[in-house]
Amino acid sequence: MNLIKRKALVIFEKQFGKTGHVLDVRAWNPSTFYEIDLHLPGVDMSKWQSVQHMKCKVADGVYRDYTPAHWDEDTQTCTLYVDAAHDGNGSKWAASLKPKDQITYLGISSTFTKPVSSASLTCLGDSSAIGHFLALEQLAGKGNVSGAVVIKEEEHRKAFMSYFDSTLEAIPQKVSSNINNLQEWLKEQNLDGRAVYLAGNVPMVVELRKIIKALPGFNGRVKVQGFWW
Ligand SMILES: Cc1cc2nc3c(=O)[nH]c(=O)nc-3n(C[C@H](O)[C@H](O)[C@H](O)COP(=O)(O)OP(=O)(O)OC[C@H]3O[C@@H](n4cnc5c(N)ncnc54)[C@H](O)[C@@H]3O)c2cc1C
Repeated sequence: MNLIKRKALVIFEKQFGKTGHVLDVRAWNPSTFYEIDLHLPGVDMSKWQSVQHMKCKVADGVYRDYTPAHWDEDTQTCTLYVDAAHDGNGSKWAASLKPKDQITYLGISSTFTKPVSSASLTCLGDSSAIGHFLALEQLAGKGNVSGAVVIKEEEHRKAFMSYFDSTLEAIPQKVSSNINNLQEWLKEQNLDGRAVYLAGNVPMVVELRKIIKALPGFNGRVKVQGFWW
């Protein structure tokens, strides 16, 4: 980054940067997925009506989006669920965090993902979408969200099923394409009148949307949130 850009970013961070505190970090085994408990002083979580995302500073001049889930408005705490199986600044940041660390973020804002009150909700995504769907489940109420998340590691699937009291299923990555893995799961489902939420890899959610829209007799809604390319 050149000097002018760096100076501009420092000014921007000073003006808009907010601080959070790491309360705890739990790595799943193998350590390619992290639960990060945060305290975010001054954040009014009671206003959250849709799933949120926060731009976290993960390296000098580098910001990445993560989803605050399992929030508690009284204590102003939440948990990030970070898929860190790939090589990236965000993955390195998640792996480096320890309790009592300070984090910087550039605000929290709403995504378009929120419960549709008149329909049953079905979520489909990859590991990066776990927090996003848990946040939707918190808004919709336990038992009101079903669906499948592709989780490659068997131990991670076990962790998902035992840690969360969720009606979401953790399914294995049987073939390399998550489009095919989720399409296979879809064959057993009745999506009649449902609101379907897709999140994760961008080409995956775009293709799944096409597949679902083309299902014979499908009369529900499809909501798409692309995360990464
Ligand atoms: C609104 C929103 C909310 C999000 N919430 C979450 C969240 O709660 N948890 C979460 O884990 N992610 C979440 N993401 C996705 C996350 O921001 C991206 O995965 C981000 O690219 C990770 O940054 P990185 O620096 O680790 O990798 P990058 O430097 O961005 O990418 C490095 C390489 O890794 C690949 N890559 C990036 N992410 C993944 C992945 N998940 N799996 C496999 N390959 C990948 C890229 O294609 C690239 O080749 C969210 C994204 C958005 C837009």
